[in-house]
Amino acid sequence: MRRKVTYVFPRMGYSYAAFESFFQILGYDVITPEPSNSKTLKRGVSNSPQGMCFPFKILLGQFMKVLEENPHKYFKIVSLESYGPCRFGYYSPLYAKILRDKGFDNFEIVNVEGIYPPWYRGIPRFFKKLVKLVGWHMPWTGIRAFVIAGWKVYAIEQLERKMYHLIPRENVTGSTEKAFNAAFERIHHAPNKVKAIKRILAEELKKMDAVPHVEDVNLPKVGLIGEAYMLMDYSNNLEIEKKLAYLGVDVDRSLWVTNWTLDRILRAKKHLNHMLEVNKGYLDFFIGGDGQESIMNTILYKKKGFDGVIQVLPFGCLPETAAKQILSRVSEDFDIPVLSLSFDEQTGEAGFVTRLEAFVDMLKSRREIENSKVKKAESVLTH
Ligand code: SF4
Repeated sequence: MRRKVTYVFPRMGYSYAAFESFFQILGYDVITPEPSNSKTLKRGVSNSPQGMCFPFKILLGQFMKVLEENPHKYFKIVSLESYGPCRFGYYSPLYAKILRDKGFDNFEIVNVEGIYPPWYRGIPRFFKKLVKLVGWHMPWTGIRAFVIAGWKVYAIEQLERKMYHLIPRENVTGSTEKAFNAAFERIHHAPNKVKAIKRILAEELKKMDAVPHVEDVNLPKVGLIGEAYMLMDYSNNLEIEKKLAYLGVDVDRSLWVTNWTLDRILRAKKHLNHMLEVNKGYLDFFIGGDGQESIMNTILYKKKGFDGVIQVLPFGCLPETAAKQILSRVSEDFDIPVLSLSFDEQTGEAGFVTRLEAFVDMLKSRREIENSKVKKAESVLTH
């Protein structure tokens, strides 16, 4: 008799709604780990090797909690993985070892990785892993699962972007967030049909636009760079985007599920060439994780007229630590302030907010100085 399998996957921001749909369409049970909290963090940290990076510990805590609470279920734990060179390369074997050492035997780990060159090896390898992950399905069901999950991810990202745009402009504090939460719930529970998701997205964007706000304001612009998981998971980055938005900033995150996936799978070569071109003189080789993207996106943010950049750096992350060193030169050469914020289980809310406030104040005063210089120059020219 075939064993009934329940899937558990890394919870990352709001994208969990899409992953749930993916597995449900394929006919599987799925359990979404709860957002990080002090208990899951403590469990993950105390069972991980000390030197491992923070995201590893976070996810270990989440997986352990799900396994502990469901001893009679059998799980496939979906783990993302790459060939390195950072610690991402050995997440899966290490999870398996730690969980077995802790006495869990109701799971297997299935890792998913991007398609790496040479393509004649990378593509078959990718599909082999995919079959291992979800089993054999009618091709149509598999395609449908991908399409629906893709649309849900896209819809959620559109709503999130709208929320961060509107918060610093809203007339009544909290009104945008309320509208977003309602919109997200509708997408989360939307029927698994493209037409329905598109319709709900259009309706909800319209509702969010109707939140009373002042559109025409010129706010300081801050770009967010850093390690992908921490950037995308609000429960671990202490809702940095929302906090910046409430501080009156136009905030833009460089990595989303959609562009991260497209850049690593469908347009990997183009993306890499672009990155090498932008990063010339700073970083011309792969250092793992999202380190190269952090450099590239800082330069691109400056070119797009952003006032500052914040790097989200998980403790123990080698690529982002290396990028941080290079970023200080980029910051100087391109005259763009960069704040690196390191996250671990001890990162406290109060100190974190103080650092954000100080950074935003500094950006605002830089803007004022720039504006007064421009005004002075204009008045000299007109007299
Ligand atoms: S990029 Fe950093 S945080 Fe992510 S797996 Fe690699 S070392 Fe860990």
